[in-house]
Amino acid sequence: MSFVVTPPAPTVVPVAGGSSFPVHRIYCVGRNYVEHAVEMGHTGREPPFFFLKPADAALVVPEGETGRMAYPGLTSNLHHEIELVVAIGRGGRDIAAADAGPHVWGYGIGLDMTRRDLQNDMKKQGRPWCIGKAFEQSAPIGPIHPIGRTGRLDKGAITLDVNGQRRQTGDLSQLIWSVNEIIAHLSTAWLLQPGDLIYTGTPAGVAAVKPGDLMEGRIEGLGALRVAVV
Ligand code: MN
Repeated sequence: MSFVVTPPAPTVVPVAGGSSFPVHRIYCVGRNYVEHAVEMGHTGREPPFFFLKPADAALVVPEGETGRMAYPGLTSNLHHEIELVVAIGRGGRDIAAADAGPHVWGYGIGLDMTRRDLQNDMKKQGRPWCIGKAFEQSAPIGPIHPIGRTGRLDKGAITLDVNGQRRQTGDLSQLIWSVNEIIAHLSTAWLLQPGDLIYTGTPAGVAAVKPGDLMEGRIEGLGALRVAVV
């Protein structure tokens, strides 16, 4: 086949222990921890909602390395959001929460980086969040850990430090909508496919970073994700 422009390279995330996970889509869940929903001005009791980032928004950070995120344009309020990422291995539509388990291939640590000033402007105007959420390098991610090794992650500490200071603290057991419930909701709206990643929401404590800052996210059972803002 001939192409009129060079086809884009696929986005690939390394799998801990070897091999690679190809990324299809990146879904994100909004306000999935009560205290974060409250800090964003909501009650924490609303149904789950979703937004997407393009696959090439992933900033892939191999095991043991420190990613480098270029401070993006247009913003003076770049926020970190540490999140559990679910890697989908089996697709489907209208998946029941009780049947969602086998659709999960593995887990990773992700950052949903957000141009909060632009997101807030768009919210006020009732416009899409894309410019605040879906820009290049806005989705740092560490290696995917197969569920066969980690077991199901439905509890465990999730934290983010910036320059050694704790900014975000939570526990996976605090998710308002569990991973299985997220898969159930998502698959009513989109055809879930192998290679999809789901960023499952962030605990309270989101705040700004600036060039020169080092972010270190941790999730119990998944190790650490380090990203420097440059
Ligand atoms: Mn988020």
